[in-house]
Amino acid sequence: MTEKKPRLIPTGTCWCGCEKEVGLGKFFAPGHDKVAEAALVAVKYGSSVPEFLHTHGYGPHHSVSRAAVDAGVWEECHECSTKPGYRGTRESIKNHKRKYHQEQ
Ligand SMILES: [Zn+2]
Ligand SMILES: [Zn+2]
Repeated sequence: MTEKKPRLIPTGTCWCGCEKEVGLGKFFAPGHDKVAEAALVAVKYGSSVPEFLHTHGYGPHHSVSRAAVDAGVWEECHECSTKPGYRGTRESIKNHKRKYHQEQ
């Protein structure tokens, strides 16, 4: 990643806009990050994730999950027999490997 992102600071109130107070250093009440994400897609893209992806130049022929791996923010599982392997966050890959590649 080359672009600089502004550093966001938690404010003590949930960023989904529900006005709940949240713990120190937290942006969201539990699960409310997903609420905020869904609400944004609803407002901007009529709740259509394909529309959302297309607007940002992604789709079946330009993989957003590959872009995440290429950007270094996600990883790809190299133990999967299918190619490309499972993609996700470091934590998600760990869970995936525990679940699918442990007992062999
Ligand atoms: Zn909230
Ligand atoms: Zn795998």
